[in-house]
Amino acid sequence: MTYQELYHGLCTRLHRAGIENETLEARELLCKAARLSREQFFRDRMGEAPAAAGEAVEELLQRRLSGEPLAYLTGEWEFYGLTLRVSPSVLIPRIDTEVLADLAITEGRKLPKPARILDLCTGSGCIGLSVTAHVPGSEGILCDLSPDALAVAEENVRRCGLEDRVRCIRADARQRPPEELGQFDLLTCNPPYIPAGDIAGLDLTVRGFEPHMALDGGADGLDFYREITAQWKNVLKPGGLLFYEVGIGQAEDVGAILAENGFSVHTCRDTQDIARVVWGRKLQD
Ligand code: GLN
Repeated sequence: MTYQELYHGLCTRLHRAGIENETLEARELLCKAARLSREQFFRDRMGEAPAAAGEAVEELLQRRLSGEPLAYLTGEWEFYGLTLRVSPSVLIPRIDTEVLADLAITEGRKLPKPARILDLCTGSGCIGLSVTAHVPGSEGILCDLSPDALAVAEENVRRCGLEDRVRCIRADARQRPPEELGQFDLLTCNPPYIPAGDIAGLDLTVRGFEPHMALDGGADGLDFYREITAQWKNVLKPGGLLFYEVGIGQAEDVGAILAENGFSVHTCRDTQDIARVVWGRKLQD
């Protein structure tokens, strides 16, 4: 069987299973299974595929059909133009989150150099890495409570070639900040924000495979916003900026938390017109 035949078979079976973007998924799964780069796939697809490639394709397809997300099968995902490593220890970077990265980059470029950037609940590191990469001369600290997530973030620091400007540190966003972190100009965070009772109703690909530690935001989904804003505002310099991603319908409540803690409040919508980022400037301690 040729690679092209394997590819068409994959497209058909993914499509029948109701998976959108079946051509992209088929290509990614085939490349992963057959250890081909995308360029090799396009160049060599009329060639005969070894039997082992067919077996590997079948195994990945079965995992995909059982709900496992494509990103965990390929082990990579793109965010803001960076190709990042992902594992089941980290949330898969979402396109919605690029709005936060974009805003933080725009504001971060206006800061005096070298801007110090802190990303809490960093997971894969997608936010902290994209912001640091695009704010010239900035320094980033990526924090997570999960050692497995931090190992992924560390690999992504190397992948992005940012070892000289970015460090990963284990820290619990719900506790007081470790003193040695120092002061920051800009803090970003996409905390867990799904209300605990809503987790059971999420899609199987999310609920069954992504880390609940990165999703569960407590009874009303707002625990992390309350705790981080109150405890971590002290690591922000006067006039420092705080950027949160929020879930659907949470912008108003998160804005109130920022206001109570002495921040100005701004909101930004994502590409689906959902209020997705709440951010502000620290006006007083
Ligand atoms: N955006 C994610 C989802 O919808 C949730 C991410 C989070 O809790 N920070 O599944």
